[in-house]
Amino acid sequence: MKVLKFGGTSVGSVESILNLKKIVEGQGEPVVVVVSALGGITDKLINTSKLAVAGDETYLTSYNEMVERHHQMIDAIITDTKKKETLLVTVDDLLGQLKSIYQGVYLIGDLSEKTSNVIVSYGERISSNIVAALIEGAKWYNSLEFIKTKHKQGRNLFSNSVSNPLILDLFRDFKNGTATHKVCVAGGFISTDSVTGEVTNLGRGGSDYTAAILAAALDAKVLEIWTDVSGFMTADPRVINTAYPIERLSYVEATELCNFGAKVVYPPTIYPVCIKNIPILIKNTFHPEDKGTIITSQEEDEDNGRAIKGISSINNTSLITVSGLSMVGVIGVNRRIFTTLAENGISVFMVSQASSENSTSIGVTDDDADRACEVLNKEFAKEIEMGAMYKMKLERDLATVAIVGENMKHTPGIAGKLFGTLGRNGISVIACAQGASETNISFVVERKSLRKRDSRLILPV
Ligand code: ASP
Ligand code: MG
Repeated sequence: MKVLKFGGTSVGSVESILNLKKIVEGQGEPVVVVVSALGGITDKLINTSKLAVAGDETYLTSYNEMVERHHQMIDAIITDTKKKETLLVTVDDLLGQLKSIYQGVYLIGDLSEKTSNVIVSYGERISSNIVAALIEGAKWYNSLEFIKTKHKQGRNLFSNSVSNPLILDLFRDFKNGTATHKVCVAGGFISTDSVTGEVTNLGRGGSDYTAAILAAALDAKVLEIWTDVSGFMTADPRVINTAYPIERLSYVEATELCNFGAKVVYPPTIYPVCIKNIPILIKNTFHPEDKGTIITSQEEDEDNGRAIKGISSINNTSLITVSGLSMVGVIGVNRRIFTTLAENGISVFMVSQASSENSTSIGVTDDDADRACEVLNKEFAKEIEMGAMYKMKLERDLATVAIVGENMKHTPGIAGKLFGTLGRNGISVIACAQGASETNISFVVERKSLRKRDSRLILPV
């Protein structure tokens, strides 16, 4: 049994959704299909709610465009009149609910997080019904019934302990092979709170995660992510035009690349399948003949495997430097930094501290930067006032680049080559970090240097 996930672009056009049908119906074994909303619909659902809450009547035009888009899709792909009628009853009922919610938002002029979550859920609720009707003999499953979240630290986090038994129960006959249907279809991304039952979601891009959760719970043979690229690339092709797809990655390498901006899969996706040792195969819906990328637990052996597998980057980096002479040899400064940031829900994606201990630099996203400085200045107010520490130094307009590969640890001279290349090209490294696992070297540079094609020199291309 396999789990196949199709992203927004794979269900976004008549051509791609018919490719999906062919791919799914061509599988010689039972499959669970997880789908995103039609490409662009999640953004449109959000934008329409913004119009409605602002009292802008054009929210209705925007809503009608979404109705039109779904109707046109159904008209083009479902030929059986009876099937079409039944599907339209379901879809129009969902669209009707959505319209009433928008009307409410427009009239009251209020848009709570709860309401927003309900609104964005319609994308996957509708797309999954369409796909279930399209695929011969498929059965639709309601993700709101079995993907459960718990509210923690101001976020909705997936709860495995609540969801797992529900999944096993609902998919029991399918898992043990007694079901009459060979294809299950479910919407990705959407969930409900395990206590209140309110609609929640797994975060933008979360359909991949839904698919991984199902693959792990049902012990799938493989998780296939069908998308619009032919796998993980050696680099961002918009930055480096000689980038090409990577055939094999380990879970660790894939995780590092995802965390550092490779948008191929949603980062939380890897963990649930990794602990069950289920391979992830990335495939291109538009070019099913391409090999794609296979992600497994295996590192490539030292001789065949390249030291560097890929390079990825995140644009919106700000660097905060905490410094002061009083930090040297003092125990607990880093604890205070990270506790303060954690308590304020700020995620740190890179840390660099020199052994002299008089400064620690932290990479955060641009959105978090001001708040991070504010809370840290407050935390260290006393020391700053006494002159023992400086006010937080904030540097903006930076980018973080990561080079990733498990075989780096067997290859001396990578860091030397990397910094040599950057130096020769006049790129100054503002901060850098390499964990002792040696699978990733990350460094921060000015954002404008990112577009220089220098990084190609260090790649195995
Ligand atoms: N439709 C959701 C989004 O656009 C989830 C997904 O596509 O994975 O974020
Ligand atoms: Mg996506």
